Amino acid sequence: MRALEDLRERLGVVADLDAAAAVLGWDQETYMPPGAIEARAAQLTTLARLSHETFTDEKIGRLLDAAATELDADSFGSDDPAFDSDDASLVRVATRDWERATKIPADLVARLAHAASMGQQAWQRARQASDFSAFEDHLRTILELTRDKAEALGYDDRIYDPLLAEFEPGISTGEIELLFATLRQELVPIVEALTDGAADKGEIPGRLDGSPDKAERPDRVDGSEHDDDSDRAGASGSTAPPQIAPPPLDRVFDAAAQWDFGVAVIEDFGFDFEHGRQDRSAHPFTTAFSAADVRLTTRIHEDFLPAGLFGTLHECGHGLYEQGFAPELARTPLADGASLGVHESQSRLWEILVGRSRPFWAHYFPRLRDSFPESLDDIDTDAFYRAINTVRPSLIRVEADEVTYNFHIMVRFELENALLEGRVAVGDLPAAWNDAMERYLGIVPDSDADGVLQDIHWSMGAIGYFPTYTLGNLMSAQIFARLRQDIPDLDEQIAAGRFDELLAWLRHNIHRHGRKFTAPELLERIGCGPLSAEPWLEHIRGKYGELSGKSL
Ligand code: ZN
Repeated sequence: MRALEDLRERLGVVADLDAAAAVLGWDQETYMPPGAIEARAAQLTTLARLSHETFTDEKIGRLLDAAATELDADSFGSDDPAFDSDDASLVRVATRDWERATKIPADLVARLAHAASMGQQAWQRARQASDFSAFEDHLRTILELTRDKAEALGYDDRIYDPLLAEFEPGISTGEIELLFATLRQELVPIVEALTDGAADKGEIPGRLDGSPDKAERPDRVDGSEHDDDSDRAGASGSTAPPQIAPPPLDRVFDAAAQWDFGVAVIEDFGFDFEHGRQDRSAHPFTTAFSAADVRLTTRIHEDFLPAGLFGTLHECGHGLYEQGFAPELARTPLADGASLGVHESQSRLWEILVGRSRPFWAHYFPRLRDSFPESLDDIDTDAFYRAINTVRPSLIRVEADEVTYNFHIMVRFELENALLEGRVAVGDLPAAWNDAMERYLGIVPDSDADGVLQDIHWSMGAIGYFPTYTLGNLMSAQIFARLRQDIPDLDEQIAAGRFDELLAWLRHNIHRHGRKFTAPELLERIGCGPLSAEPWLEHIRGKYGELSGKSL
């Protein structure tokens, strides 16, 4: 096993370089003084270059071949028990990464990085001015380079496939189109029933006391570094809360008390503060320097409770995953989430399936009211539960409720494919955006800032990323349905503030495997079957049927 040992050592160096870069990246978003930005950018560029050079070295390619021969790994089918071993998984996943990384010419990597850096700056300015034309040329360049990248990686069917594979290996564009078609067909009547058709006029429907209920959802943008995005990133450079919050969520909630409440909950969830910490940042994210050092960040708005509350629970879900990788995977490419979709399934499971459920608030609402007696004195658990689960079509993805959220993703997925396949020209994108919003959500933005310019992703060259948000939602429900079979009294446990069995189940079935399996392989192994929208739709029908008193 000499090749395998040598391979492990070299991959360990790459992992160390990436972890060092992650420390610098975390510091940049939390404590670094603003004047240090140029020096920090140079340091990060150097580390990224060293990591890339070390990983794409010919020697690694030869060691991967030799290690595969040592293990006889080529003979493993995915149903062979040997397929699951740490060694075979390491060779399989590292080979996939290496082939991908070496297919893209260094020159194209550099041009993409440059275009992304320029693109983000231009996007911020364009968004501030709500002027798409100021971003248009940058997007055209990014799109051309992204097409070149897809061609370099190669594909059989759809140009989107190799781009998607960076974030969600094992799932094709065609599969997502089918899933989304089902989801849309089922969701449209549900949303109509919940909003009485009133929402598309921008009014708050009386029935559910509606309005965007939403924490500014923190999202991961850079999968490999776990640097999450961004949500309202660059929104006039501000971190202003959404304009409309359903009462009582818009009352004043003391920042320190919010922080303490969030920390108390995630300690109950099982986040290990001996091996992690939480700090503040403008845009919440989770990063890890190893499974023994996981960093969460959150932000607090005193006049919008959900941002800090659900943002903290969301990031904790990512953090629990990172803390749960098996120690044997340390310093290898396997010490990471299976995919962005699976990572998001963990954050959404804790944030929504646990954190926005009735049993959860049966336990925690009295404690929340004790923390904020002036703001919640006249509110009971039921009223609070309704407020945090308000459904209403809205313009901004990160403010969307869990029911309409996936429509925002469908809009972006459809447009990304149309752009890449030349069916929509970049110059026509704002009009195409508004048209898609009208078709999916029945509302049209007044400005590009609230429309096509709202997300940072395209400006960073992250094309193929968006569908992983919806995949995460769907997977979270599939996983939750499966674990309920093993933990029949889960609701009672949650209502008692007990999460140890839940976390142990996730650790055993998902977390410890890290990146050994793709999402479809993982779902299959834990008995969820193939990726499906049905468990999520069940969840929505059950929860919102009960809330609205309607049969959905
Ligand atoms: Zn997330």
